[in-house]
Amino acid sequence: MALDTLDYSVMVALALAILAYLGKDKFWPGDDGTSAGFVANMSAGGHSRDLIETLNKNNKNCIIFYGSQTGTAEDYASKLSKELGSRFGLKPMTVDFADYDFDNFAEISEDVLCFFLMATYGEGEPTDNSIDFFNFLDNEADTLSSLRFSVFGLGNSTYEFYNAIGKKTNERLQELGAERFSAYGEGDDGLGTMDEDFLSWKDLVIDSLKNNLNFEEHEAVYQPSLKLIESVHSMDDAVVSHGEPNSAYVSNSVDLSKGPFDHSHPFLSKIVKTQELFNSKTRSCVHAEFDLSGTNLRYSTGDHLAIWPSNSNENIDRFLEAFGLFDKADVVFELRAEDSTVAIPFHTPITYGAVVRHHLEISGDVSRQFFLAIAQFAPDEETKKEVLRIGNSKEFFAKEIHEKCYNMADALLNLSNGKPWKNVPFEFIVESVPHLQARYYSISSSSLSEKTTIHVTAVVESEKIGDQLVTGVVTNLLKNIEIAQNNKSDKPTVTYNLKGPRNKFSNYKLPVHVRRSTFKLPSNPSTPIICIGPGTGIAPFRGFVREKISQIKTNNATIGKVMLFYGCRNEDEDYLYKDEWPSYAQVLGSQFEMNVAFSRKDPNKKEYVQHKLLENAEQINSLLNDGAFIYVCGDASKMARDVQSTLAKIIAKGRDISDERAAELIRSYKTQNKYQEDVW
Ligand code: FAD
Repeated sequence: MALDTLDYSVMVALALAILAYLGKDKFWPGDDGTSAGFVANMSAGGHSRDLIETLNKNNKNCIIFYGSQTGTAEDYASKLSKELGSRFGLKPMTVDFADYDFDNFAEISEDVLCFFLMATYGEGEPTDNSIDFFNFLDNEADTLSSLRFSVFGLGNSTYEFYNAIGKKTNERLQELGAERFSAYGEGDDGLGTMDEDFLSWKDLVIDSLKNNLNFEEHEAVYQPSLKLIESVHSMDDAVVSHGEPNSAYVSNSVDLSKGPFDHSHPFLSKIVKTQELFNSKTRSCVHAEFDLSGTNLRYSTGDHLAIWPSNSNENIDRFLEAFGLFDKADVVFELRAEDSTVAIPFHTPITYGAVVRHHLEISGDVSRQFFLAIAQFAPDEETKKEVLRIGNSKEFFAKEIHEKCYNMADALLNLSNGKPWKNVPFEFIVESVPHLQARYYSISSSSLSEKTTIHVTAVVESEKIGDQLVTGVVTNLLKNIEIAQNNKSDKPTVTYNLKGPRNKFSNYKLPVHVRRSTFKLPSNPSTPIICIGPGTGIAPFRGFVREKISQIKTNNATIGKVMLFYGCRNEDEDYLYKDEWPSYAQVLGSQFEMNVAFSRKDPNKKEYVQHKLLENAEQINSLLNDGAFIYVCGDASKMARDVQSTLAKIIAKGRDISDERAAELIRSYKTQNKYQEDVW
């Protein structure tokens, strides 16, 4: 009896389900954030995990490694790869460290140019995807004498260990005998100069390629690494993605309630409760509770929740308008990779509309690099000239694009006088527009008291800058959910499709995963803690306090002193969880002390947490003598530094030592984990 198409589909689905079940440890990425791949020696992209084999098989002569947490290093790697290919005829491959093994790393020959784009995360830590590579460099690598390299570090100077990972990569490779062919460069997110720093480093690289390594330069012409084929499928076919988080969500082929969950595979969590925490007409902060019942997703107090976003309807419409894509929103296409080193970034077949809604970062500011690259597809010569005039000047770009807070669509439409950019190949958009990334939130619940829910506290980002309405993606999505769930009549600043692909997000669900953090309470509950968290920096401390209460109630634990410093504008507008603190104080008694600074209560006197710290200097010194741990959470750019220098002053005075010695002491507390920061 002949088998028809349906029979084959059923057999294939069954075979896949069995394969997925038998290899479930391998199919899903490891919970350390690495992609183990579909079969043991294959990566998620379908290529071998053997770096040299992949390099040779695909005839590549340049590797761009990236250690990326929020997607910037990955985006730069992809842009650098395109440029080296189109300007110098190099054959680059971009490499996510998580996709390869390093046993034969030393065999990379001197004919291969290697670039390392290395982000530093948190307190001088490597990104999740580069942890294994550092284990290799530190513990296994012997000599790398044939490696030729250049490193660019991505960091933030408001953190103590600024660009620690970029520096370490550069130094360690040199120690192992590798040869640097172009100067080390680093970018500073803290100063907001990352893009320009990257461009300056890239100019040095290009200079070195031309003048030291004698590469010939050609006029840059876009060479796609992906091929788009409009599909025979209609958007209603089950295999077509409507923007589901990954293929498993399209096919429902595995149990989606079971992890491991990470940056490539989220859990679809129901938001069981939302609440507006501010009492203000202009500002908003949302408390949201994510349900974990029925899943093996777990967290521990102090961890971060990653929330996977989608774009607002308004930004999607503007983007479709800018590229003349309105008519194509429901058209289905597939992508083919030029070779096995190129990863298809999302499940296909998919619709154009789903890509824009769920996979592209369309609302943030636009980069000068993107501008220079897209000029070749301008709708007319005049627009092209104008784009190049602005794109080639750091100053013009800052003044005419950056300071106006234009997003990509606004910038392009403004320069073309409203003419759509219809000549831009969609492959270019997929390859050049950064991909939408999850945003992290410090969890504001305790895993001991809230075993099956995760709470977050998110301040909504929305501001009018000049004529431009600037909105944050995730926080406005949460605000939309809060309004809808509580049946409010408020009009949101921007709107979202809350039902998600094929209504899979209906009843207020969002894809999430948990990122383990090192921001942890001392193991002994009787150790005193000093917590400093103005604004949403209070989030993890609500979790800490709830944990302490649970320790008392369930284990009858003896609790050390909890000294909490919080700051907000004024008591009636933005005092987060104002109603909860008295009940916590009742249980914790004299072991709990909350000091609140109001910055706008007295028009003549702005009061911040640092002032409250100084007022309590004596008690702080005494708690530190008793072995107290210090925790700081919230704004990294100014608050964390000011708090640290205030604490140094307090310690210097209390111990009668110099400020420098006190600052050194704080640094040693940091290495002992007695001074922990959760700042962003
Ligand atoms: P995004 O879309 O990421 O936008 C970022 C900013 O850029 C916004 O202010 C937005 O208004 C602005 N913007 C948008 N478009 C443009 C443009 N065209 N030009 C210029 N600017 C533009 N936040 C909390 O509220 N609570 C927490 O507990 C918390 N914990 C965190 C913990 C960690 C470890 C980290 C890394 C971050 C944490 N954050 C927290 C910050 C959070 O991750 C998000 O960055 C924040 O909520 C903004 O996300 P968004 O998607 O709404 O904004």
